[in-house]
Amino acid sequence: MPSSDESKSEFSPVVTLRAWLQRLGETGRAGMAKGGIGLEHELAAVAKRLDGDKAVIFPQPGGHDVSVFSGIVSNRSWIAEAMGESEETMLSRFQHASLNPLAWHEVTDAPAHEVVHSDGIDLLKLLPIPTHSEHDNGPYISAGLLISRNPENGIQNVSINRLQVSGPNRLGVLILPRHTHYYHELAERTGADLPVAIVIGIDPLTLLASQAILPVDCDELEVAGALHGQPLDVVKCTSSDVRVPAHSEIVIEGRVLANVREKEGPFAEFPQYYGPPQDGPVIEVDAITHRRKPLFHTIVSGGLEHLLLGAIPREATLLAHLRRSFVNVLDVHLGLGGVGRYHLYIKIRARQDGEARNILLGALGGHYDLKQVIIVDEDVDIYNPREIEWAVATRFQADRDLIVIPGAQGSKLDPSASEGVSAKMGIDATIPWGSDAFRYKRIRVPGEEAIDPATVLETSAPADITRWLRED
Ligand code: MN
Repeated sequence: MPSSDESKSEFSPVVTLRAWLQRLGETGRAGMAKGGIGLEHELAAVAKRLDGDKAVIFPQPGGHDVSVFSGIVSNRSWIAEAMGESEETMLSRFQHASLNPLAWHEVTDAPAHEVVHSDGIDLLKLLPIPTHSEHDNGPYISAGLLISRNPENGIQNVSINRLQVSGPNRLGVLILPRHTHYYHELAERTGADLPVAIVIGIDPLTLLASQAILPVDCDELEVAGALHGQPLDVVKCTSSDVRVPAHSEIVIEGRVLANVREKEGPFAEFPQYYGPPQDGPVIEVDAITHRRKPLFHTIVSGGLEHLLLGAIPREATLLAHLRRSFVNVLDVHLGLGGVGRYHLYIKIRARQDGEARNILLGALGGHYDLKQVIIVDEDVDIYNPREIEWAVATRFQADRDLIVIPGAQGSKLDPSASEGVSAKMGIDATIPWGSDAFRYKRIRVPGEEAIDPATVLETSAPADITRWLRED
């Protein structure tokens, strides 16, 4: 691992969306689509095609006044850069921010309130909400930070939930049994609606902070402040006590209705399959506020932006979780083929026989989504799927190094699980303890890494090799 000086990025943390878009644009990582791209599938098709290569801004999508953007955190290195870190240090930085949140700072005058709509709300007229995948049940807000308050103590929670446009001022929502679900349950117990705000268009670090794996009653906006290195400015909503980032592009204010459930879905999800329709809660919209000339963020389901936003905070938490018991865990990675959720790779410095199995068991209990864990030695690059496969191919024997745990809790969105019950698999692909060192000596040509092709090859190599062979 590089020393902390070398591994620092040359940048400081990015605190606004507009600054980040500007930097992506200046460095050839953002493109402007031609005006008027259609909101039904067409916009998502362009965004998905360029995902990981370029963020895209869509002016006048479907003839709408408000521009859409997508793909601002579709690359691991971009996320590290936005944090002002290197890829090597970003997980520990994220975990540090999660454990050391910074209280927000309240302001009364906010860009998010430059324009306020409170009467005759019509979501599709006010906002350019796209339809993404083939069988999605219509237009969806996919990059909205849903902010709610614990009705008993006022502590806020932030999550990203899929939001279906169910009517002019009505959104169907999927709320999985985590913190927002708990706050809604508390409100519903007293027959009350749960006031919420949906923030669309926010800086990359607040977006990332919203996905931090924290205990209940820890405000993700305070993690955003810690990542920024300065308290996040927030403003009170115009129709409720919910606080939202002052520099939000667009804020939808509303309430999750008590004791109302309506059909929502299907909608494309991160496992690359459709999340099935459900009878879900409903949000009634009371107001929409936005900046002048606002930008609307959309995340194409199952794309890199979607996968990485979930994967990086989980990696940070899993790494810290494992290191509590095993200081020799060097790094972890949630592979993208495993949809950034299901397959974990762990790199260790082996210390004693049997320990790799303990680490496997510790990891499998670390998050219910984990389905397969592969553990490798420190010479294997866990960010390279070919290296992982090589380690399994040459260091693992199924009758000796495989752990299978049937009937555990898994991901409900994994179509092969039955009602969220899933088997877990652990693969110990470390070199068997006590092996003869030469047996596992990795081949190497001395000097290969130091070769610079530019200094070895002739600048103008003969194109006609046959003619070159005929010459004396
Ligand atoms: Mn939370």
